[in-house]
Amino acid sequence: MFSIPSIRVAIVGAGPGGFFAAGELFKQLGDGVRVDVIDQLPVPYGLVRYGVAPDHPRTRRVIRQFEAFARAQNFSFLGNVAVGRDVTVEELRSLYDAVILATGAEKSRDPEIPGTQLPGFHHAIDMVRWYNGHPDYRDYAADFSCERAVVIGNGNVALDIARMLIRNPEELRSTDIAKHALEALAESRIREIHILGRRGPAQNRFTAPVLSELASLPGVSCVAHSDELVLNEESRREMQDAHEIGRKRALDVLQSFAMNGGEAGQKRVVFRFLLSPLDVTGPDRVTGVRCRRNRLEGEPRHQRAVPTPARETLDCGMVVSCIGYRGEPVPGLPFDHARGVLPHRQGRVLQGSEVIKGVYATGWIKQGGHGLIGHLKPDAVETVRSVMEDLNASTGERKTRSSEVGDLSEILLHRGKRVISYAEWKTIDEAEIRRGVQSGKIRENYTSWEELLSAAGA
Ligand SMILES: Cc1cc2nc3c(=O)[nH]c(=O)nc-3n(C[C@H](O)[C@H](O)[C@H](O)COP(=O)(O)OP(=O)(O)OC[C@H]3O[C@@H](n4cnc5c(N)ncnc54)[C@H](O)[C@@H]3O)c2cc1C
Repeated sequence: MFSIPSIRVAIVGAGPGGFFAAGELFKQLGDGVRVDVIDQLPVPYGLVRYGVAPDHPRTRRVIRQFEAFARAQNFSFLGNVAVGRDVTVEELRSLYDAVILATGAEKSRDPEIPGTQLPGFHHAIDMVRWYNGHPDYRDYAADFSCERAVVIGNGNVALDIARMLIRNPEELRSTDIAKHALEALAESRIREIHILGRRGPAQNRFTAPVLSELASLPGVSCVAHSDELVLNEESRREMQDAHEIGRKRALDVLQSFAMNGGEAGQKRVVFRFLLSPLDVTGPDRVTGVRCRRNRLEGEPRHQRAVPTPARETLDCGMVVSCIGYRGEPVPGLPFDHARGVLPHRQGRVLQGSEVIKGVYATGWIKQGGHGLIGHLKPDAVETVRSVMEDLNASTGERKTRSSEVGDLSEILLHRGKRVISYAEWKTIDEAEIRRGVQSGKIRENYTSWEELLSAAGA
C-alpha cells in the first residue's frame, strides 16, 4: 500500500467503470483516499440500471459490489451534477488530485442510411432507456402495431431487443421493466423479428447463452436460412482458432436453427446474414428495409463485407438499429471523434502526445462502447495504476495543494445546484423497491425527474 495521506479523487460517471475505479482506489489506498463519484443523473449505476434488460436481473446483481464500495466512510455520491454544465473539468482539476472520466458511450452509432428519420425507426439506446424507465424517455413513442420488426446488428444488444419485443409480456410482469413499457408491450402485435448481420454467422458477436435463451422462450421459434449458414474456407479456419471459442459456441447455436421453419402458430425470430441495410423505406413511416447482399473478402479474422449486386427488401413496420455505441466529447477535453473515445495512454488522457496532468479515463469512454461489465475491472485497475504512479511522483506538490482547496458540494450548493447524496439515492432506492412490492415486481422505478427528485426528499 502507498503511504500518501488524504488524496482526493473525483470520478465522473457512476456506471461500472466509475465504481470499479472507486473500488480499486480503496483497495490501493484504504482510508488514505477520498472518492467523490459524480453523475449527471440523480441515480447511480449507469447502464446497469438503464441498459441491461429487465429480464436479466442477475446481471444487475453487480450493484451489490458497488454498494459495498459506496458504504465506505470516504466515499461520496454527487448525483444530478453534469460535468461540463454544472462544473467544468478545469474546476475539478483544481479541487482534486486526480479526475477520472468514466462517462461511458451513450450515443448510438448511426447506420448512415436514408430513412432513419421515419417514425418506426429506433436506435437501441433509446428503446432500452425507455423500457428501463430512464427519466428522459418516459414519453418516448414506440408503436408496436406492426407484425414484423427488423433489428440491425449482431451483438447481444440486438438479442436483448428481440427478446423484449417477442417474449410474452406476462413473463416481464414481475421484473423491474417500466410500467409504461409493460403496458405498451402488452398491446404489441409483433410476431416476427428479423435480425440482420452484414457479415456471416462466424463473425457474429452474440454469446451462446443469450442466443439459447432466446431460442428457449415459450411460443418462440428461432430460424436461420441454411444457405446463409454455410461457411467459406476463411471462416472455417477462423472457427478452428482456440481464441474464437466464444464465437464458435454461438455459431453452433445458430447452426441449430438451420432448416427450422418454426413451429406453426409460434412467433419467429429469423437470423439473416450477409445483408447490409441500404435504406429504410417510407414515405410517412417505416414500411421496410432495402438490403444489399454481401460476400466476405479477406484473410481469416480480417474478413470484410463486400457488396454484391443482389438486393432484397424486407417489409416491416419497425426497425431497431443495434450497431454499437460511441462516447461523447467531454467539454474542455480533447476527443478522438473517429473512435468516439477520450485519447489516452494507459488511462492518462492525452492532448496530442502530451499527458494532461491529473486527468484519466476508464470504462467505455476509454475503450469504446463494447464489452461486458466484468471487462471493465481490469481496465479500471490499469487506470488506477497510472493514477498511483503519478501521485507517487508528485507527493510534495500535492500536499501543499490539498490543504488549500475547497469542497465541491459546497461550491455547487452556492450555485443553487440540488446535489443528490448517496443517502438520498438510498431513499429513492428503498421507495422504488416498496412500490415494486405493492405491484408484485422486483421494483418500480420512478420514471421522471420530478418523481426522482421528490422521492429523494427534494
Ligand atoms: C443495451 C445494453 C445492454 C447491456 N447489457 C449487458 C449485460 O447484460 N451484461 C453485461 O455484462 N454488460 C452489458 N452491457 C454493457 C455494460 O452496460 C457496459 O459494459 C458498462 O455499463 C459500461 O460502463 P461505463 O461505466 O463505462 O458506462 P455507463 O454504464 O454508461 O456509465 C456512464 C455514467 O456516466 C454518466 N455521465 C455521462 N456523462 C456525464 C457527465 N458529463 N457528467 C456526469 N455524469 C456523466 C452517465 O449518466 C452514466 O451514469 C450492456 C450495454 C448496453 C448498451
